[in-house]
Amino acid sequence: MKAHHRIIRVEDYEQHVGAETVERILKKAEPLRDLHVVNVNSTYYGGGVSELLSSFTLLMNGLGIKTGWRIIQGSPDFFSITKKIHNALQGESINLSDRKKELYEFIIHQNSLRTHLDHDVVIIHDPQPLPMINHFRKNSPWIWRCHIDLSAPDKETWNYLKQFIEKYDAVILSAREYARELETPQLFFMPAIDPFSIKNRELNEEEIDERLKHYNIPTDLPLVVQVSRFDRWKDPEGVIRAFKLARKEVDSTLVLLGNVATDDPEGDKIYESVLKHREERIIILSCQDSALVNALQRRAEVVLQKSIREGFGLTVAEAMWKGKAVIGGNVGGIRYQIEDGMNGFLVSSIEEAAERIVRLLRDRKLREFLGRNAKESVRKRFLLTREMEQYLDLFSSIEPSFRINYRTPNT
Ligand code: UDP
Repeated sequence: MKAHHRIIRVEDYEQHVGAETVERILKKAEPLRDLHVVNVNSTYYGGGVSELLSSFTLLMNGLGIKTGWRIIQGSPDFFSITKKIHNALQGESINLSDRKKELYEFIIHQNSLRTHLDHDVVIIHDPQPLPMINHFRKNSPWIWRCHIDLSAPDKETWNYLKQFIEKYDAVILSAREYARELETPQLFFMPAIDPFSIKNRELNEEEIDERLKHYNIPTDLPLVVQVSRFDRWKDPEGVIRAFKLARKEVDSTLVLLGNVATDDPEGDKIYESVLKHREERIIILSCQDSALVNALQRRAEVVLQKSIREGFGLTVAEAMWKGKAVIGGNVGGIRYQIEDGMNGFLVSSIEEAAERIVRLLRDRKLREFLGRNAKESVRKRFLLTREMEQYLDLFSSIEPSFRINYRTPNT
């Protein structure tokens, strides 16, 4: 069986994180053996949450912690409401009518009836399934894991959601700056990546060439790449404008690769709207191909993640792991991932992004310096073993009253 078709276990991480860390994790997992945990979110693919859950659930099962993953179902109407809520949590002001709230809560009620949760720990991801907590006689701790950039949520939407959030036993957010005024204890876990997945595993040059050729991506000029769902918060228009400014100084090819998650009804519209910029040196692709993500991030000279809001950019960590200098928007979680000028660049405008593209394309040594540091910072802070250990500590800290006695270390 090929190495990448093997179920990865925590022991496989030894080469990256050392034997001591692996030993420590195994030891922490031992008393939690047979704990039954369930995760609930709203899509199997497309976007960071599904990416995380697919690796995380397998690793936890490898430790003997029975960790499941359920998906809620909903009509396009439902997902257009939940996308509005998502946008509002990232700061857009919206008008959530009573009719929309009723439909949102009703679909979640239906999902709750057909989802039987009697696990030792229930982890609900993001706002889509949030109200499920209203429909269960809670016999165990329920945790709300919110992956969104909560630095400036729309007040009204937040106040509406708070009635559900405060029923949870704990809330996990991706960064301390997202902490809100809440009765519920708040913990902070940054997401992390799986270095063994098809998206992140080592590729040789032929494998990279094969993928790029398959999509007719020219490699005669340096590649500037952004991989992101087609979502306005990822600022694809800004990336194109920055690229157009940069190419006045240095020639290159831009590749925007995106996908559309099943719970994101705005994706197609955003994709259609950026398509008008397509030309010989601006390649815009919409497809779900993890090996292509890997190949592009590896072959790119410059990777962008020019988000306007970002809870945490998995794509940033993925590209940094491949030794790339990433130019990230100076927002949300990206600020915890990139240290400006040390392992990448943080930018606040199109002009700044253009200037950094030019600088990086002209300076191989700078690319290599930032890329080396980037890889090392992911190895230290953003591999899945770190997040797993936080979950293990959390599970061990649950008291019989469901009180959670966990404090996020100051890292
Ligand atoms: N992704 C992908 N194909 C695409 C675009 C994105 O596989 O065309 C993946 C990307 O590699 C990453 C995840 O989707 O693993 C996006 O996570 P991120 O945290 O960057 O953003 P989110 O979509 O959760 O806002």
